[in-house]
Amino acid sequence: MPDEGRMEIVIVGLGASGLYASRSALNTNRNCHVTIVEKRDFDQFSPCGLPFVIEGIVPDFDHLKHSVPEVKGKLTKLLSHEVVGIDPASRTLDVKDLSSGESKVLAYDALILSNGSIPVNLPIPGAKEFLGRGVHFCSDIDDSSGILRAALASSRKKAVVVGGGAIGLEVAVALRERGLDVVITKRTPPPFPRNLDPEMGKLITDHLIELGIDVRFGQGIDAVNGADSVESVVIQGETIPCDMVVMAVGTRPNTRLAELAGCDVTREGVVVDNRMETSVKGIFATGDVVRTYSRIDRTPATMQLATSAFRQGMVAGTNAAGGNAEYKGVLNTFLTKIGKFEIASTGYTLEQATSLGYQAKAVSTKKEIKPHYMPDNSDVHLRVVADERDGRVLGLQAIGEQGAGWRVNLFALAIQAGMTLHDLMDSELSYNPPVSQMYDPIYQLVEIALKRLRLEPKAPAEVFLPSVKEA
Ligand SMILES: Cc1cc2nc3c(=O)[nH]c(=O)nc-3n(C[C@H](O)[C@H](O)[C@H](O)COP(=O)(O)OP(=O)(O)OC[C@H]3O[C@@H](n4cnc5c(N)ncnc54)[C@H](O)[C@@H]3O)c2cc1C
Repeated sequence: MPDEGRMEIVIVGLGASGLYASRSALNTNRNCHVTIVEKRDFDQFSPCGLPFVIEGIVPDFDHLKHSVPEVKGKLTKLLSHEVVGIDPASRTLDVKDLSSGESKVLAYDALILSNGSIPVNLPIPGAKEFLGRGVHFCSDIDDSSGILRAALASSRKKAVVVGGGAIGLEVAVALRERGLDVVITKRTPPPFPRNLDPEMGKLITDHLIELGIDVRFGQGIDAVNGADSVESVVIQGETIPCDMVVMAVGTRPNTRLAELAGCDVTREGVVVDNRMETSVKGIFATGDVVRTYSRIDRTPATMQLATSAFRQGMVAGTNAAGGNAEYKGVLNTFLTKIGKFEIASTGYTLEQATSLGYQAKAVSTKKEIKPHYMPDNSDVHLRVVADERDGRVLGLQAIGEQGAGWRVNLFALAIQAGMTLHDLMDSELSYNPPVSQMYDPIYQLVEIALKRLRLEPKAPAEVFLPSVKEA
């Protein structure tokens, strides 16, 4: 039983959201004790770094690990422990010690489910049978080590990557850098469908081809074949010999514990309110496991990125400990580096905005990021999505060798502030020739968008002259 007078908070999962939930809970309430239950046998690690170990940029997987120190009387970690059951009526958890096999019961006053997501496999012949024997996920250190080992030992030196999101493309580039022939395939044509409209996706497809990757977007894999291990795949009727397949077709929220607890759950995740609390009082959920809502208009949304996970963790930790914090929703702000390109986006694509009923228009442009006289200049491709009724900004997509990420971050702030194209045109940005343009590509894009959307310039609300004080 919990100590008399001391609040017991239990967090399931030591990922980004669980860690930040624990920090916020301890900062909010000096009289609480946090227990983190984690089934892994080691502390925290950064999944986002996995492709860069495979590529060889980061020397080994241990570099991705970092330890979270216990604090006596405040923070206890139970590593190699798995939560297997929840009884919300008695506010207890059934926990299995994975090293000894023993079972124990943990009591809680507030519970935070931060137990992440599970990689999805395709329902095609051979995909399940060859898992671990040539078919790999890239979700944790174990499976990513398998990819690296297979790449280094590959006799055919040929890999097939399935998926057109950030993980698939990052791994495809990593394997190419390791000297393998790489085929990348997905059933639908454009890459990053959640983040980019097809015309921006086309730039990425072209760049992958430039990198020597065999791009088969729009074809899709039909089967994985082999005897003891993978020997080939079938893509649109063509048999392609290979000895490794990386499945990067997405993840699904790990909702089993929430279901056991009787929380409302959808296919997209555990339903939470703006305090990150589930439908069961005293049980919060955060990170990849939840379905939240858009920051733009509160329509249901999921994000499954570290950036939303840690922020949701902060909100849940604060509220679980008796504080009062609000989660404002996701913008889907996203960044990846594929080959030479930063690829970034925030808010809605044109397709998403239109399907939600906005009178959305998209305007694209390509501009040099520095003045023409500067060396090491390059282009940034920008695409803004805005509502033609009032010019409200709904999204930005950016691709470039430099400067795509910060421009998207700036638009993320603009969108969350409800700014219009006019507001952006009026904004003051920094400028110095080695870094940017005086009339930045952002202004150039917004100017074109204002014209295309036929939005009149705004007259000043009032005319005033600042008073001049005599010294
Ligand atoms: C290869 C890769 C690259 C990525 N790159 C980026 C990126 O560049 N930028 C970005 O923002 N995001 C990126 N992400 C996504 C990001 O890593 C996740 O969104 C984030 O880790 C989610 O955090 P989380 O705390 O919800 O879940 P996780 O970090 O998955 O943590 C969940 C934890 O719960 C534990 N657990 C599960 N069930 C139980 C149980 N029953 N009992 C005890 N413990 C349990 C798991 O072992 C796990 O440690 C990437 C992900 C991957 C895999």
